[in-house]
Amino acid sequence: MIYNSIIDTIGDTPLVKLNRLNKGIKGTIYVKVEYFNPGNSVKDRMAIKMIDDAEKAGILKPGGTIIEGTSGNTGMGLALVGIARGYKCIFTMADKQSKEKIDVLKAMGAEVVVCPTNVSPDDPRSYYSVAKKLNKDIPNSFYPNQYDNLSNWKAHYETTGPEIWKDTEGKITHFAAGVGTGGTMSGTAKYLKEQNPSIVSVGIDTYGSVFKKYKETGEFDENEIYPYLTEGIGEDILPANVDFSMIDHFVKVTDKDSAVMTRRLSREEGLFVGWSCGSAVHGALEYARQHLTEQDTMVIILPDHGTRYLGKVYNDDWMKNHGFLEDTTFGTARDIIS
Ligand code: PMP
Repeated sequence: MIYNSIIDTIGDTPLVKLNRLNKGIKGTIYVKVEYFNPGNSVKDRMAIKMIDDAEKAGILKPGGTIIEGTSGNTGMGLALVGIARGYKCIFTMADKQSKEKIDVLKAMGAEVVVCPTNVSPDDPRSYYSVAKKLNKDIPNSFYPNQYDNLSNWKAHYETTGPEIWKDTEGKITHFAAGVGTGGTMSGTAKYLKEQNPSIVSVGIDTYGSVFKKYKETGEFDENEIYPYLTEGIGEDILPANVDFSMIDHFVKVTDKDSAVMTRRLSREEGLFVGWSCGSAVHGALEYARQHLTEQDTMVIILPDHGTRYLGKVYNDDWMKNHGFLEDTTFGTARDIIS
């Protein structure tokens, strides 16, 4: 295949069967490997859709500047689209994000403003507030705002959902994905449920995030909010892209379980994926163990690639320092001997 631009290669990512991690679980489990996108993440899909829709609406004009608060992956997608279409990019990021993600965005020619993680979203220092202020101050700038921009879920309604439906030949019975902005889960689940309303969707949340409790009680409970390490999923806000009516169940996963499962995906399945992929698979398998039957087919989204986490979950010292390594069989030969 020949493509006119790298952004034309976004989408049509493969479904890959899990062969080992699902031991003892009934049914068939596929993962959709989103690192095959050119920016190595699922977020390329919504990045191009947000820009397409802004151009169509006349909000983004030639020579403009794209400003976004991002955990890194959306920034990468926007950077690719910016390069292809001639826009400058400025990204605000929370300082808990991996250095690799910041360096990657700089490598793509973007300007990155690092902001403190542990301040409330309406604090003027938060990465949300800084992005909004830059948008106000810089003429001809566009703030996509992935949290509340509905082009986000629509991208998944138009691409991720149809790809899964086609590739499973309509056999999918369960869909699982991590929930951050909510775009992936809400858009994909909406498409799939329109094809077959009995498809069950399982949203993966983190401890320290408000989603699960909100779904189950309707209450926005501030006590649910505390710092956590996993990147890309869970929130301390309710983004417009989270359509709770499209999410049947939430499963919360700890930082440790996510980290351990991420390493297992690499070593046992050959899937060198990011940290939230461990969350998605750990949470989805927990659900599958209890609910899947022999006839069922589950699809789990794996949002991004492992390179961005080499200094964290793939680093043994980092894992030990966080108390995450003791119950894995991995580690160096020296660890095993000592
Ligand atoms: N995992 C990672 C690594 C991400 O960057 C994101 C995006 N925040 C997600 C999962 C969640 O996807 P969504 O924003 O579509 O809910």
